[in-house]
Amino acid sequence: VDQTYIMVKPDGVQRGLVGEIISRFEKKGFKLTGLKLFHCSKELAEEHYKDLNQKSFFPKLIDYITSGPVVSMAWEGVGVVASARKLIGATDPLQAEPGTIRGDFAVQTGRNIIHGSDSPENGKREIALWFKEGELC
Ligand code: ATP
Ligand code: MG
Repeated sequence: VDQTYIMVKPDGVQRGLVGEIISRFEKKGFKLTGLKLFHCSKELAEEHYKDLNQKSFFPKLIDYITSGPVVSMAWEGVGVVASARKLIGATDPLQAEPGTIRGDFAVQTGRNIIHGSDSPENGKREIALWFKEGELC
């Protein structure tokens, strides 16, 4: 079964969108296997987004992700990685379709409220990075 790592970013938590986001994944039919709220370190954010560390926006991205608590989630289900990306919508919320999470709730790429793993391999890598084994069901 596939697994994906979903994170509600600090702006999504501050704006009270955690329940709405969890609800969309639950209603779709995926299984929640891990959930926690915490303020992540700069080191963890940098490791999570290491593939982007040469980009000009990288320092701003790290400041954004560490600007407040995030909600970390692990979700399981057949096809969950690609399906979660569809539920989330395009990186630029102005390009994201209405009905998607970013399309419905965001306007700026730099404040796009949610992360989802982009491949099954990264899903496994990110869940191992953000959770300890005893924290997953
Ligand atoms: P995520 O990995 O957070 O799910 P994504 O896979 O849609 O988003 P990536 O290309 O992996 O997009 O970029 C990671 C994050 O970096 C984006 O979600 C966004 O917050 C930020 N980002 C990407 N491109 C830009 C940009 N041009 N300017 C500012 N921030 C950006
Ligand atoms: Mg990405």
